[in-house]
Amino acid sequence: MKDGPKYKRILLKLSGEQLRGSQPWGIDADEIKSICRQVAKVQANGVQLALVVGGGNIIRGSDSADLGITRASADYMGMLATMINSLALQDGLEQLGLETRMLSSVKAEEICEPYIRRRAIRHLEQGRVIILAGGTGIPFFTTDTTAAVRAMEVEADVLMKATKVDGVYSEDPAHNTDAVRYDQLSFEDAMRLNVQVMDQTAITHCRDHALPILVFKLAAPDSIVRAANGEPIGTWIGSPP
Ligand code: UDP
Repeated sequence: MKDGPKYKRILLKLSGEQLRGSQPWGIDADEIKSICRQVAKVQANGVQLALVVGGGNIIRGSDSADLGITRASADYMGMLATMINSLALQDGLEQLGLETRMLSSVKAEEICEPYIRRRAIRHLEQGRVIILAGGTGIPFFTTDTTAAVRAMEVEADVLMKATKVDGVYSEDPAHNTDAVRYDQLSFEDAMRLNVQVMDQTAITHCRDHALPILVFKLAAPDSIVRAANGEPIGTWIGSPP
């Protein structure tokens, strides 16, 4: 008998920064293609996929002071940036023939559906890749927290964060060559270490609801596919399912 996929439903968080590739800003076509190809492979394996993408390749609320913009306004700009990125991903996935739906917390009825939990789950059950845009719709939050909350809402087995580092280290490996990479650590240890790879609010939510997080490096070959197949990659925060 053929084994089924390791996970039934995954929420994959992509840092916006990853979409810019080697460019200083914006969206890199090859990055989008690479991500979409991998998402298509995972989906073809029968895994239900919800994507949340950040906006850091365009604007972050924390840049507000440099930009001379009020923090809340800059945060709304950040949320709009996630919508731009989501549209790029949606288009890339559709070019590969996948059925997708983009749902946003910030209403934009000309381009996507409003985020409605039951509808999101229905799309997943129908085999559509869903892209959850607009963050939480609330300033002073991040898309890490969005990913944590949405993962719980859609009852994902796991929250995967594809980012620029290959896991969580005991210390900053850029500053200390003795830094050790963890294969797994508890939510409490992740909070105690004040890990920078995932925001603390998101980790707290995942701890409170026992949702395991896998942090891995997007740039590693076939990283999304390997993570979704349950191969050893990155660092688990909490107990792997
Ligand atoms: N943002 C927000 N509320 C949310 C999600 C995002 O205000 O619920 C804003 C915030 O300014 C954030 C920006 O959108 O900096 C882009 O998201 P994030 O920084 O999480 O993107 P990433 O670091 O993953 O690229």
